[in-house]
Amino acid sequence: MFTLIELPYAKDALAPVISAQTLEFHHGKHLQGYVDNLNKLLPGSPYEGLSLEEMVKRADGAVFNNAGQILNHNLYFTQFGPAVKVANAPTGPLAAQIEKQWGSLQAFMGEFVAKGVGLFGSGWVWLSAEANGLLVISQEAGASNPVIKGLKPLLTFDVWEHAYYLDYQNRRAAHLAELWKIVDWKVVEERYGA
Ligand code: MN
Repeated sequence: MFTLIELPYAKDALAPVISAQTLEFHHGKHLQGYVDNLNKLLPGSPYEGLSLEEMVKRADGAVFNNAGQILNHNLYFTQFGPAVKVANAPTGPLAAQIEKQWGSLQAFMGEFVAKGVGLFGSGWVWLSAEANGLLVISQEAGASNPVIKGLKPLLTFDVWEHAYYLDYQNRRAAHLAELWKIVDWKVVEERYGA
């Protein structure tokens, strides 16, 4: 049985970047729905007992979609924190690698947001790492996750409309640009180093 992750901050802690109302729906309704769906699909299926990562690598159809969305949202919600508390920029090896590949954090953020804005329909934009530490920005449609390509997921922006429509309506670019204020780079660094 999978359970809904608890948010590591209060429902109103990310406002005004993400409102309490959006979190109520996004975490409390959408993510809860994926958890409930997967728990109904698994009994007696060949995927019962696997981790979310293994399900995403092996399954297709409804198990893939629901397991993928749980994995994606668990990584998404736990990378944020209140704007006044988060580490606003990476340090150490991750900062050095971003500098090496993009020249600056600003240039990286620009490409990341552009790829999120340019993703047609529903999906996710990801920063991931190859086994050798090389960083990759990728667009993943629907419920997909870069673990399928053998990459380690580090950071993701959800571009499904349910992630921003209550607060930003159709302004996806404005929403994605605001998200940098609540990204906790300490979390991203830990994922990179782990
Ligand atoms: Mn979502």
